[in-house]
Amino acid sequence: MRRTIAAAVLAGVIAGAIAIGAAAGADRDAQASNEPSGTPTATPDPTPSEPARPSPDVTAPPVLVPSFDKSARSIDDPNSIWLVVNKLRPLNPADYAPADLVTVPVAHTWDPLMRQEASDAIVTMFAAATSEAGLSLASNSAYRSYTTQVELYAGDDNLTARPGYSEHQTGLTMDIGATSGVCSLATCFTDTAEGVWLRDNAWRFGYLLRYPADKTAVTGYDFEPWHFRYIGVELSTEMHNTGFTTLEEFFGLPAAPAYP
Ligand SMILES: [Zn+2]
Repeated sequence: MRRTIAAAVLAGVIAGAIAIGAAAGADRDAQASNEPSGTPTATPDPTPSEPARPSPDVTAPPVLVPSFDKSARSIDDPNSIWLVVNKLRPLNPADYAPADLVTVPVAHTWDPLMRQEASDAIVTMFAAATSEAGLSLASNSAYRSYTTQVELYAGDDNLTARPGYSEHQTGLTMDIGATSGVCSLATCFTDTAEGVWLRDNAWRFGYLLRYPADKTAVTGYDFEPWHFRYIGVELSTEMHNTGFTTLEEFFGLPAAPAYP
């Protein structure tokens, strides 16, 4: 996992360097500056009337700066790891249940189920929290079925999602705490070492702090420093690099402050 992330980051760095290099080269040509350059293309052109040509590219393909494809996966299909669920976007069908739920083999207060891919990423992330920072994380809640959500929902939309509208029903979400239980499912979790580590590092493992403190008007939920949603490393890295903190804003969706 870490090697994959490192490779992806390296690829991004290389792509960026290539793009910068290409732009700098074009700038030099346009200004005909006398900046020192290590490339022969910067030497005075003896035949200026000839149209500028790219360097020989018989073997080198054109430089393509990779752009993120926001339509690569569905944001509507409940089986998609990019699914966006909020108070305007219920699961469809409302009683959707993932087909690949597994028991997540981590410390927990409530037997955690998640989809296989999300579970694997949790295991890797929890191990990294321990090896990198000496922290012990635990699951407080993961998959919740439609039926469970019916039982949990007490009619208060500010506290609990309505059945069919909960991210926990996707099998991609976990409420994470410290094994010590300190500040579990409480706002003060954000100030614990575990909360800080998760906030800063979850993206590396494909997870998103889904309900940030400054985005309640967008997400429709109060700050939940414990609630993490699996979206895959590709998307989490793109959001991290571009500074987006909500799925609604990244995908250009309407804010969902309340049920319709
Ligand atoms: Zn949650």
